[in-house]
Parts: sequence; C-alpha cells; structure tokens
Amino acid sequence: MADDTFDYDLFVIGGGSGGVRAARVAAGEHGAKVALAEDDRYGGTCVIRGCVPKKLMVFASSYCGVVEEAAQYGWDHKSGPFDWHNFKTSMNNELDRLEGVYRKLLSGADVETFDQRARIKDAHTVELSDGQTKTARHILVATGGAPVRPDLPNADLGIVSDDIFQLDKLPKSILIIGGGYIACEFACIFNGLGVDVTQYYRGAQILRGFDDEARGLIAESMRENGIDLHVGSNIVEMALADDANRGPTPTGSDATMGASNQDIEVLRKDTDGAVAGQSGPIWVKTTTGTEKVFDIVLFATGRAPSTKDMGLEDAGVELGRGGGIVVNEYSQTAVPSIHAIGDVTGRVALTPVAIREGMAFVQTVFAGEPTPVDHELIPSAIFTQPEMGTVGMTEEEAREKEDIEVYCTSFRPMQTAFAGKSNRVMMKLIVSKKTRVVLGCHIVAPAAGELIQMVGIAVKNKLTKEQFDMTCAVHPTMSEELVTMRNPMRTA
Ligand code: NDP
Repeated sequence: MADDTFDYDLFVIGGGSGGVRAARVAAGEHGAKVALAEDDRYGGTCVIRGCVPKKLMVFASSYCGVVEEAAQYGWDHKSGPFDWHNFKTSMNNELDRLEGVYRKLLSGADVETFDQRARIKDAHTVELSDGQTKTARHILVATGGAPVRPDLPNADLGIVSDDIFQLDKLPKSILIIGGGYIACEFACIFNGLGVDVTQYYRGAQILRGFDDEARGLIAESMRENGIDLHVGSNIVEMALADDANRGPTPTGSDATMGASNQDIEVLRKDTDGAVAGQSGPIWVKTTTGTEKVFDIVLFATGRAPSTKDMGLEDAGVELGRGGGIVVNEYSQTAVPSIHAIGDVTGRVALTPVAIREGMAFVQTVFAGEPTPVDHELIPSAIFTQPEMGTVGMTEEEAREKEDIEVYCTSFRPMQTAFAGKSNRVMMKLIVSKKTRVVLGCHIVAPAAGELIQMVGIAVKNKLTKEQFDMTCAVHPTMSEELVTMRNPMRTA
C-alpha cells in the first residue's frame, strides 16, 4: 500500500486505546505502513491512569463491606487494615503487564513506534521531539484529554485523578471537588478504603445529566455509606494549613489532625520522588463559609482535550470552544489528511467510543468504506457504590420530547437486606406511549455496569416494553424487575 511519496501511510499521535487500535488494524488488517508516537506510557488514560486502575481500586474498596455482610451469612472473618502499599504494587504490576500487551500488539502488527512527543508540522508532516520529521499520507490525532483544575489561587495544592495512583500512602481525610463521574467514583472508592471523605459539589445534585431519580438514589446511598456529601457548595479559597496559621483551628476529621507535615509530604511524592503539589494539610474555605482542613484535596472538575502545543491550528485544524478538535462524522478535521478520534475531539469521552471511532476511521480511510461513527444510545456505567448503569434518555429528557410512561421500582435487594443493610436498588424504564419503544433504562444496583451492557442491546435495537415483557424473568434476581413491571409508576 505504501508508496514513495510519504514515509508512512498513517502516522498516529497517541498510544491510548483509540490510537493503538487504529494503528494496529490499519497495519495488521489492511497492510498499511504505520507509525505511532507516544510520549508517556502505552495504553493511555484508560489503561494507565483511568478505567483500569480505577476499577481495580473499586474492587479493592468493596471487600471491606463484603466481610461485614459475610458475618450475617455465618462467616467469622475479620477485616484487617487495608494495605495500600501491597495493593499499589500489585496494581502497578498489572499496569506494566497491560502496557506490555499494548506494545506487543503494535510490534506484532509491524507498527513502528516512537517513544516521544509528536507535533503536527503540516498536513502531511509530523515533527518528533528529537527533531526528526516524518511524513504520512494520513495523520491520526489520538492524544486524549487531561484533568483540569479550577481557576482558583493555590489550586496546584490539590491533586487530580492522574495523581491518585501515585500516592505513596492513603490520606486519612480527603476533600473531593466536583460531582461528575470521577468525583463520585473516587468518593466511593476512598470511602470504601477507610478514608474520611468529604465531597463538595457546586450544583443542586451530583451527576448532572443523568436521570434525576437515579442520581438522587446514588447521592442518598453515598451519604448512607458515610460520605460527607455537600451539594450547593464549592471551594473558594485554599492554602497550606500551616501557612500563616490560615483559618481557624482545623475542623476536619480528628484523624487529619494526627497527620504530621512529614507524613503528608510522603503522601504526595510522585514516582520521581518530587513532591507534586501540596506539602502539608490543606485549609479550605467554601462558598457557604465553612472552613476545614484535609490531608488531600482532589479536583475532579472535568477533563479537557489535549490539543495544546500540537501545531494543530497552524496546520489548519479547527478547534472547538472547549479546545477539542472539530471533526465530521468520519472523524476528519478541516484538513482532509488529518483525522482525530477519542477524547481529543470532545465528543464522548469513553474508551469503547474511542475504539469504535478508530475502527470507523480505518474502515473509511483504509478499506474505502465510508463509515460514520454511531454515537446514539451508548450504554455507560458509573462505578459508584452502588453502581449506576444507564442507556438512552433520562425521564427528564424523554418527557420534553414525547408522551412517556415511566416504569420504576426501588427495593432492598435480598443479599444485603438479609445482612441487615438498608440500601436500595432501582430499576427504571422510560417507555414511549406512542411506539411502546423503551427509550431509556437506568439501573442503580451492585453490578449495574454488567446489567446495562445486556439491556443496552435491547434498547439499541429499539425493543418495545411488550418485547421486554415477553422475556421470562430470571428468578430470584434484582434485574428480573426489568421484565416484570406491569403498571407504569407515572405518565408524563
Ligand atoms: P465531568 O464533566 O463528569 O464532571 C466534572 C464535575 O466538575 C462536574 O460536577 C462539574 O460541575 C464540576 N466542575 C467543573 N468545573 C468546576 C469548577 N470550576 N468548580 C467546581 N466544580 C466544577 O468530568 P469528570 O472529570 O468526572 O469525567 C470526565 C469524563 O471522563 C466524563 O464525562 C466521562 O466521559 C469520562 N469518565 C467515564 C467514566 C466511566 O465511564 N465510568 C469514569 C470516569 C470518567 P457541573 O455539573 O456544575 O458542571
């Protein structure tokens, strides 16, 4: 396929899930001559500092509760303290293994890799940080995104999600700012690991954009589980607690007060031994006037596409308002030879979506079959405790569009009710009154992520409520309610 006009048929910038998939399929299945540059670890956000280590932490944080419940089931196990160091070592070994898999996939497909930063020089040229330039018929930008801190004095005293996996020891107390996926997931994770968790969210309810009833139940469960969640509250000031005796005597957890500055310094050392951010407990003041001290402040205040200093605009690539690369339905930018996929486009920041965009790009460009990316009805999960699984329209969105019936049930599931716990789960279907199609499904329950994958097939294929009901229930399960809810709870 390669000719002498360019060094490569395809040069991919970014070795995350989307970039690696596109590179190896273009090379391995279509015979393209492909190169890929990555200036960090292969695997990107998902594998190295996102989904994978986060999910391992979700698992780690769930065992303490299991031991408690087991007692009601006759087991006499005692839960000892959580050993962050042991866990982190195993987690890092697993990440090393996965990074190796990513590298092997690329070398196995004969993709040439450059372990350095790459910038766009022009429509067909990439410049590497060692000064080399490489030309390619097509360039694919798959540089992902990165966490952003709010515009607040001393914001660099806080950490962002990338830093969590580098902590040398667990804090005794943490303040999490934000109410999105990352804030809520890590609030639950740290809480499960025994950290004293406070969360401030500026809006009226966490998880904006998700179904109101579902996010209400998540918030209620998080509070029941011990998270000190405050809505309508945001951070307005922060400083090292010891700096000029800022603020009143700290009112955070007693545990916080037990941590010496030296302790805290070790908390935040990064892998190179440099302290990234704070070097002592942090005093914060909120919009409601509360003043407290925490070992660590985590900003989970969103992510931005990584487009800075990439040479994109000079090459003619258009950037959108949030800094994301503007692309058409085929992931093509304003420069026809440059495409972009994944978080860097600011479309849907989810790994499976980036992978699908990568596959569609290859199909379009290397198989000659124009394949638009389908962003409709993407199921997703929030790995809070309990989890939320969601696909399709929320009740609030659907009622704006058409007449609907809402089927919803919330109950104490057998497994934890038996163990004396009061937590509830929720199964909810939004149904079109006119077509009977299930427009949305929202599940709050343990393993909701697993459940919504299956329901996603039905919703994506536009099955009707009656077709759901034709399916025999699996008994006794929580999810049997999805096919046994006979009467709508309300219509709108
Ligand atoms: P989100 O956009 O989900 O949440 C950001 C949160 O920060 C919102 O609550 C927002 O409030 C708040 N916020 C933004 N700016 C400020 C500010 N200046 N001060 C205070 N609060 C602020 O971003 P995340 O970083 O949590 O996640 C990014 C993306 O990563 C997600 O959209 C998702 O696509 C992906 N992701 C997916 C996961 C999964 O599939 N399980 C897990 C983690 C991430 P407001 O609501 O008022 O705007």
